[in-house]
This record gives sequence, structure tokens and C-alpha cells, in this order.
Amino acid sequence: MSCLFCRIVAGEIPARQVYADDYAIAFLDINPWHPGHTLVIPRRHTADLLDDPSALAEIAPAVTATAALLTERLGADGLNLLSNAGEVAGQEVFHLHLHLVPRYAALPGLRELTVREPDIDLDEIHRRLTSG
Ligand code: 5GP
Ligand code: ZN
Repeated sequence: MSCLFCRIVAGEIPARQVYADDYAIAFLDINPWHPGHTLVIPRRHTADLLDDPSALAEIAPAVTATAALLTERLGADGLNLLSNAGEVAGQEVFHLHLHLVPRYAALPGLRELTVREPDIDLDEIHRRLTSG
């Protein structure tokens, strides 16, 4: 199995999972843009939004549930939802994924979406999202 995210679904590669249902899993992005940056992916392989017209609807409940988790557990004030489809759009991993990027009023505003926060403690974020 060569697809990185299929290997995460199969448990062959570790990921900090924060949500799962029959159709999707959600896990922390290894290189977060803001604290709690999470990827929601379908369990079954499809390359991107254009590749399979039914995939987005299948993972929509997971996106909604994960968005609620991020706002409730991390105190996010809002979030960005983004999916890159195709290399020309900046896609690097060719298994459909939606970026859920929590945003915080307390952090300086008007940042570029791609500016990364330094020193995000992924284990602490993961603990907050999964404990209790
Ligand atoms: P894309 O540019 O394809 O929309 O985004 C791919 C995302 O996957 C990037 O934000 C990148 O940080 C994330 N990513 C790449 N490899 C891994 C990995 O092995 N584990 C996790 N958790 N995220 C990954
Ligand atoms: Zn895959």
C-alpha cells in the first residue's frame, strides 16, 4: 500500500487521531498552520474532491463533528475549511483530505493562512481533544 493516508487509516503509520466514524477519520496535521490543525479523510481511497463525487458527502458528518470538537475543546473562535484538489492547487498528498484549521481571536489577526505557529505542542493538543 503506497498511499500515505491509506496507511494511516490502516494503522501502519501512527497519527494523532481525534475522531473516527464508519466513513472517515480525523487526525492532527503533522505540520500545523495553527494549533489544532486537523485533517479529515475518508477511510476509502479517493484522490481528491474531483475524483469521486460522493466522497465529500460521506465525510461531511465527520467534518461537522470535528469542527465542534475543535471549538469546544480548544476554545477556537472560528475555523478555516480547505481542500486542495490537484497538484496545481497545492495538493501534496493524493488521498482526499479536508484541512480544518482552528482560529483564535487571542492570536494576532490577519495572518496569511500558510504562516505556521512556532512551537505547537501536538501531544498536548491531542490530549486536550481526546481526554475525558
Ligand atoms: P495538501 O498540501 O496535500 O493539501 O496537505 C497535506 C497535508 O498533510 C500537509 O498539511 C502536511 O503537513 C500533512 N501531512 C503530510 N504527511 C503527514 C503525516 O505523515 N502525518 C500527518 N499527520 N500529516 C501529514
Ligand atoms: Zn489513500
